Amino acid sequence: MLTDFHIHSICSDDAHDTMADMALASYGRGVRIMCFTDHVDLDDYRTGRPDPNCFDIWPDIRRSCAEAKAAAPGDLEILCGIELGQANHDVPRAEAIANTEGLDFVIGSLHNLRGTPDFSVLRYISYGDCKHYLSLYVQELLELSQLDCFDVMAHIGYTRRYMLRDGFDIPLTMKNHGDELETIFKNLISKGKGIEMNCSGLRSAGIHNTIPVMSVIKRYRELGGEIITVGSDAHCVADASVGIERGFELLREAGFEYVTVYRKRRPEFIKI
Ligand SMILES: [Zn+2]
Ligand SMILES: [Zn+2]
Repeated sequence: MLTDFHIHSICSDDAHDTMADMALASYGRGVRIMCFTDHVDLDDYRTGRPDPNCFDIWPDIRRSCAEAKAAAPGDLEILCGIELGQANHDVPRAEAIANTEGLDFVIGSLHNLRGTPDFSVLRYISYGDCKHYLSLYVQELLELSQLDCFDVMAHIGYTRRYMLRDGFDIPLTMKNHGDELETIFKNLISKGKGIEMNCSGLRSAGIHNTIPVMSVIKRYRELGGEIITVGSDAHCVADASVGIERGFELLREAGFEYVTVYRKRRPEFIKI
């Protein structure tokens, strides 16, 4: 039985299909427990400045989730979460959002540096440029790892997608930022939090790996990390839960016996 705990619907500006349609597509690919995680980014992705309206979509999310549940097959469980971006840029606001009644799951993401546009909006002109941004990204992940307002840290190494687009392949690895990654993992583990295996990279011909890369996920496991969710990070029906099956195989290869799901913000372990 597969699970998908990172998936978007038209409640996110950058996604294309309804929750009901996404859910049916995921079900067709073997998923039986899934959690929608539409974007709630504290900053505007174009400017990096605070977006006071970022949580206005919550009623829409609730309504869409209810519609998807009503339309779903009886053996598909649909949960309702968010992908909370840049919690470290406004911690009180992030905490208030994360404490909202009705949330099953909160992913902690970092899509942009403080006061800077989203990594997808930035342009990269050299390897030196990329390394500089990667270091700043890791520093902010360290900040994020000390907070309480999320359940798992999302797509560690997310910057790779966009640097690769501009011709520079710089994965985040134990080799280039091992000390910081170990500190991040120790922080998360001590707080009872986890990481996600983001399978979007498995759909990318350039990356062909999970985000974070498998060597980093294995190190997390070695350090005692047990909480790990798996997500497709799909934004359209064609991608819905694509890569999840392979993700589960990789999880087993990395020594995990359980995948984590969240209900009402509480982790539960499912044997894989
Ligand atoms: Zn994200
Ligand atoms: Zn996402």
